[in-house]
Amino acid sequence: MKNCQFCQLRRPAEEELCQICGAVEFDPSVEGPPADFGLRLIGENRLAAAYEYLEGLVARGEETPEHCHRLAWLAYAFGDLRAVEIWSHETLRLDAGWIEAHVLLGLVLQRSGRWAEAAEEYQAGLRRPATPQRRARLEALLERARTNIPEY
Ligand SMILES: [Zn+2]
Repeated sequence: MKNCQFCQLRRPAEEELCQICGAVEFDPSVEGPPADFGLRLIGENRLAAAYEYLEGLVARGEETPEHCHRLAWLAYAFGDLRAVEIWSHETLRLDAGWIEAHVLLGLVLQRSGRWAEAAEEYQAGLRRPATPQRRARLEALLERARTNIPEY
């Protein structure tokens, strides 16, 4: 098991590419099975089961930013962009400082060519406190989005 550096979800050790977000950067130092059942299902590549499980938790009142954010990443993996938006906005409603939700919303917007709106999401993320790595990632995403805005 290793941790994806981008979506932060556990991935099977043999994977070269994260099946959820498509990133290639992994932290191989993660050892042992995750304590959390939802993360375990994701690590076993049982993504549909993980989605159902997390949705169940949320429905039963365990609506945490972490659960909503994992649901958003899973929806991204399934290509359900509408659900990504819903879960990301829910994450931000629960915790406005959850900058990863801005990253995910930006990725969804740029997928449909809405670069200016994507740039706004990255800027919103940059207004929040973040680790140097996350800040660097947001800056790189913002830079790329800006170069794609036709009139920028
Ligand atoms: Zn990932």
